[in-house]
Amino acid sequence: MNTANPLPGPHGRQEPLLSVRSLGAAYGHIEAVSALSLEVRQGQIVTVIGPNGAGKTTALAAIMGVLPATGSVCFDGEEVSGDGVEQHVARGMALVPETRALFASMSVQDNLELGTFRFRREPRAARMQALDEVYELFPRLKERRLQEAGTLSGGERQMLAVGRALMSRPRLLMLDEPSLGLAPLIVRDIFRILAELRQRGVSILLVEQNARAALKVADEAYVLELGRVVMHGPAAELANDPRIIETYLGAAGRHQRTLVSG
Ligand code: ATP
Repeated sequence: MNTANPLPGPHGRQEPLLSVRSLGAAYGHIEAVSALSLEVRQGQIVTVIGPNGAGKTTALAAIMGVLPATGSVCFDGEEVSGDGVEQHVARGMALVPETRALFASMSVQDNLELGTFRFRREPRAARMQALDEVYELFPRLKERRLQEAGTLSGGERQMLAVGRALMSRPRLLMLDEPSLGLAPLIVRDIFRILAELRQRGVSILLVEQNARAALKVADEAYVLELGRVVMHGPAAELANDPRIIETYLGAAGRHQRTLVSG
């Protein structure tokens, strides 16, 4: 398994949409992410898998500018490290955090409309179009548009969190453990929607403990352990790698708690 860049696609090599080089992030003296390098190409789903505490959430927060970090983050060929969240969103990056960060006492629709902050100076019609697209992708949210977010089921809350991120029309959608706490059938729904988003041209960086589901949907995968990339390659290859099977996929694997079947 290589740790270098992915092979060129059928259309030859193109500039990555996201390129992270030697990213480091620490909490005080504790280094949570060290020398992390990864790439997301246009139209790819790239997953980062790894056990609890590997540094997955920290890596996303550092890439998004939520946490201070060392190293380099390039988006669409431009160096963006050091910029804040708002600038990242304006460029077309969006993060769905593990906590979902919804406003429980606000309606589904009001939560979604908060996601159009990036377009606040544009006519309402443009924002409404984004809303229509999200409702087309998640008809359940449309049915429940007047319901308070706090009363939604876990799966619906995850759909709302993804929908709200999509309201900013991101080119890169980053998701932190979207399967967390969800039943297998709902996980399958969410991952089907991620594949559909890739079809629509959204590139995705997916952080997951659910290695089986993540490797199934992803094009490329990185394995993070103790803050470092220990393996990297095409997702289909990793899914067949004996080390991955033993540690993350096998029936006796150590990280089976949240895996889905089929
Ligand atoms: P999980 O899957 O459990 O969410 P993770 O791979 O996302 O794990 P992180 O949450 O990024 O891992 O944590 C990486 C390391 O950083 C862990 O050792 C964790 O204890 C530590 N850490 C995370 N957040 C903080 C914080 N706010 N202050 C101090 N240490 C932290």
